[in-house]
Amino acid sequence: MEFNNTEVAFKHKSNFELKRAYWLFKLLSMGYLSILGRKFLNLLLTLKFPVDFIILKSVYPQFCGGRDIAECTPVIKSLIKNGVYSTLDYSVEACKNENDFEKSMQKCLNILDDIDRSKSSKFIVFKPSSVGSLELYRKIGSNVKLSELEERQLDAVESRFNKICTQAKEKQMKVLIDAEESWIQSAIDKLVINQMLIFNKKEALVFNTVQAYRHDRYDYLINLHKKYKGKIKIGIKLVRGAYMEKENNRANKYGYKSPICKSKNLTDRSFNDCLKHILKNINDYNLFMGSHNEKSNILACKLMDELKLKKDDKRVWFSQLYGMSDNISFNLSKHGYNVAKYLPYGPINEVMPYLIRRLNENSSISSQTNRELQLIKSEMIRRNIN
Ligand SMILES: Cc1cc2nc3c(=O)[nH]c(=O)nc-3n(C[C@H](O)[C@H](O)[C@H](O)COP(=O)(O)OP(=O)(O)OC[C@H]3O[C@@H](n4cnc5c(N)ncnc54)[C@H](O)[C@@H]3O)c2cc1C
Repeated sequence: MEFNNTEVAFKHKSNFELKRAYWLFKLLSMGYLSILGRKFLNLLLTLKFPVDFIILKSVYPQFCGGRDIAECTPVIKSLIKNGVYSTLDYSVEACKNENDFEKSMQKCLNILDDIDRSKSSKFIVFKPSSVGSLELYRKIGSNVKLSELEERQLDAVESRFNKICTQAKEKQMKVLIDAEESWIQSAIDKLVINQMLIFNKKEALVFNTVQAYRHDRYDYLINLHKKYKGKIKIGIKLVRGAYMEKENNRANKYGYKSPICKSKNLTDRSFNDCLKHILKNINDYNLFMGSHNEKSNILACKLMDELKLKKDDKRVWFSQLYGMSDNISFNLSKHGYNVAKYLPYGPINEVMPYLIRRLNENSSISSQTNRELQLIKSEMIRRNIN
């Protein structure tokens, strides 16, 4: 399995789109210029300067599908034409009150309604913090006694999880539930397991997320397996984890041991251990692996081969974010593996925090950005454009 075939990787991109991606990644790779650019953008946003037009013509189309589902349709079509499924992600962050939570749930239900008409999606995804309060999750996780109001709020959260899963089942879709910060994750783990116990009896409809950068997650997985093996199919989205800095800072601030592995090598080892455990026990699991790491994707293919699993075994899915690592997604799909890109969408002001995270991530992991740039350049040379 190789990920260097740029013709396959960028077949879905026009020359114009390719050049736009080139300039974007070029800017992100330019250390100080990139920092200045992002600071300037933050300043414009703070001053409520109308930046929509600039965003819409630059970063937005690289990382988002559109402002609503209709606008995403051409993107979804072009992905599926090249064998890649879309996982629509209404990328709203920082929901604060019951109204916001209801609205987010409704967005998920709308996706399930609209997407039902196309055969280009198999999964829906939501963030627990978009349907319930962070403070409530934190309290549950710390075993603090809930007030009557909080008990009612918890019932409402469970009901939102359940409504999304029920509708997904009707539409024959699967539900991925994102993982967030460790201090809210134990509450989420419990809520997700409750839904798995309802919906995962015969096949995995509900997926919890395991963040391998947490040093306790391999043991968590092994215990989950011991407890539920034979009772349900355990759906797992396996990722490395996105909140490392926040986790370490909080642990420092409050003086407890950080839940994050001490080094990247240890995170990689934890990721590989989780991956091997799941694939070796695939009869008890469904796996959705979210990673831009080429070695991890190659390892998964190799293990599937060794274990004599078919490339398109319906229990194993690969995923990358829209606008990133197309070389992995499209080459995997070309070789017959199941691939679904996360496709964030939403109005510009609502997806702005997501876009800023993408810009920051692509600037901080310079090896990833340089790799993207190198692949785009090769394809521009191959197409003879400059
Ligand atoms: C489809 C998809 C879904 C995702 N869903 C979620 C989600 O629900 N929750 C979530 O938290 N994240 C999620 N992510 C993000 C993911 O967790 C990673 O942050 C991101 O994908 C980078 O990891 P990698 O495996 O792609 O690449 P790599 O570049 O190999 O890994 C980078 C990651 O390694 C870890 N790391 C880096 N340096 C160190 C260090 N010094 N010590 C310890 N660990 C280190 C961090 O987790 C960092 O993000 C998702 C990603 C994808 C592609």
